[in-house]
Amino acid sequence: MKAQVLLPKIFNFSFTYNSNNIPIKIGDLVEVPFGKSKEIGVVWKHKDKDLKNIKIKNINNKLQNYSINESLIDFIDWFSTYNMVSPGLVLKMVIGNKDNLIKKVDPIFSNYKKKKKKYKLNNEQKKAFEYLDLINNKFDVSVLQGTTGSGKTLVYFERIKKIINKNKQALVLLPEIFLTNEFKARFEDFFGFEPAIWHSKITPKNKRIIWKGIIENKIKLIVGARSALLLPFKKLGLIIVDEEHDVSYKQDEGVIYNARDMAISRASFEKIPIHLVTSIPSIETYNNIQNKKFRHVKILKRFNDYPLPKTKIINLNINKVKNKFISDETIKYVDIFLKKKEQILFFINRRGFAPYLICQKCGYKQVCSNCSMYLTFHKKKNKAICHHCSLEKNIKNSCKEQGDCNFIMYGPGVEKIFDEVRNIFPDTKVEIFSSDYMKKKQQTSILFDRINKNEVDILIGTQMISKGFNFPKLNCVVVIDADFSGRGYDLRTTEKNIQLYHQLSGRAGRFSSESLIIYQTLTPEDSTLNEIIKNESEKLLKSELLLRKKNKLPPFVRLIAIIISSNQHDLSIKGAREIKIQLKKIDNIEIFGPVDSPLLKIKKKFRSRLLLRFRNGVLVQKQITNLLNSLKISSKIKLTVDVDPTNFS
Ligand SMILES: [Zn+2]
Ligand SMILES: [Zn+2]
Repeated sequence: MKAQVLLPKIFNFSFTYNSNNIPIKIGDLVEVPFGKSKEIGVVWKHKDKDLKNIKIKNINNKLQNYSINESLIDFIDWFSTYNMVSPGLVLKMVIGNKDNLIKKVDPIFSNYKKKKKKYKLNNEQKKAFEYLDLINNKFDVSVLQGTTGSGKTLVYFERIKKIINKNKQALVLLPEIFLTNEFKARFEDFFGFEPAIWHSKITPKNKRIIWKGIIENKIKLIVGARSALLLPFKKLGLIIVDEEHDVSYKQDEGVIYNARDMAISRASFEKIPIHLVTSIPSIETYNNIQNKKFRHVKILKRFNDYPLPKTKIINLNINKVKNKFISDETIKYVDIFLKKKEQILFFINRRGFAPYLICQKCGYKQVCSNCSMYLTFHKKKNKAICHHCSLEKNIKNSCKEQGDCNFIMYGPGVEKIFDEVRNIFPDTKVEIFSSDYMKKKQQTSILFDRINKNEVDILIGTQMISKGFNFPKLNCVVVIDADFSGRGYDLRTTEKNIQLYHQLSGRAGRFSSESLIIYQTLTPEDSTLNEIIKNESEKLLKSELLLRKKNKLPPFVRLIAIIISSNQHDLSIKGAREIKIQLKKIDNIEIFGPVDSPLLKIKKKFRSRLLLRFRNGVLVQKQITNLLNSLKISSKIKLTVDVDPTNFS
């Protein structure tokens, strides 16, 4: 008997083998000869291609106990078609390293028992639970919305408990890896056992143990980042996407996909419910709530009834002192909280000390030699660093005139604010929370510990801090420069700002009735800012939707970006023009470009972009993939396809 076997490699078709009298069925994992080596593949459903003049070889053997469900096979096919990646590469994400599968004896995943804490839902939570619980055994998308501190987690924990009690598996997706530790503790308190944690940084051994536990339906609860979505669950019963609005769900490198959207697809193939959990929904989700595609339930009250923080806009234009970024008025407010022995967070979303370095004498600017990017000065390392390719440069330059360049630093980064805060409040304990300072897991937990014990007075943090942390004594947040100018090339700029400022205000006053969030800004009249502080984020989403509709942007149309990159600028543009001519053969798509990317050069590659626009509800991906596959593309250029792009840099 012949069988089709898909291999976890770049091919976009399966290979034919003889079954060698081994009883196999669709979804079985088998070992096959491939070239001179052996590979592990999956018995596939259909034949994609007839390869001529190839001698059909025998399957070596079947991996006992390991098979993937047909629903997952269908999902892999869909994932591959939709995101325009070869099914083999998607399969690779599912089965991972083949060493996972061969013999190796590992301990089985043991979720040690812990004492459960007792929890009780309040009335509002109970109602939300009952609403989510209405649909159990079929595909259904529902949104659980509630302000930070409203106890949404507890509601979905109850849902998970119910699913697990039916001997099914549950998957919780989180946007950030580093969130998982804090979450882990909450899970353990509630469920009385340790959940399995999955993300790209766990050890190979743990990956093997967890992967096996999942395919054998021994692990019931997985908490993970994006990649957990492609695990080979045997009896998946529920998917939770927590913080569904978070932009980190879009993977922008390697296999490009949106994990939230793909989670919805997976739920649909598995015929199970999925809950999207958020404080303010993403624009797509908001749209789907409006047009009743998604069910929606909201928790209004904060769990302990504390009010949201008060807000204050401070105009930075007044009394502006050169190279000072904290206003006198801000200092007065901060003092009040310091006197009460409460904590303050200064928020600035820029790593390092200063984002621009310009020579006072000759005007030379420090830019990256690999990317079209300014280098940021990092005081800790005493180097200028590219935030795109991580290039590090000593800042000494020989000046055009004579001697060394004399660089002045423009703009603030966390390190600059740190220095300024230390000068203003010399007797306080100040700490920085940014990825450069929190390289190790341990550093983060030590700092968190100190904050919780109130051993830190002032925290200076980047975006990392805005998500999901609860510090009981943190009652004042200062946003160094609230900027709504909308520069940048991101479709989500407004939406991102709504989310960011919403989240920041969620960080303050979790356990206090008097909390404050200060927005320092150069544009105090800005309407977005003013609506955010009136807590009218949904109004903003509504007007953003209208704007998108008018400008023919998603979610009212669909977009696909094709990025053509090359070592030479003329080749990337030329390649893009040629591809555009070919793409014109496809009906019903509009093609824009080619244009130079706003960030023309990244990691030594010049980048030109094409943008395709088409109607909702049509799947043009297959046609485009077929066309691109039929082209002879020069080895000097590289194509990257981004379906549903949000970043246009
Ligand atoms: Zn660079
Ligand atoms: Zn100079």
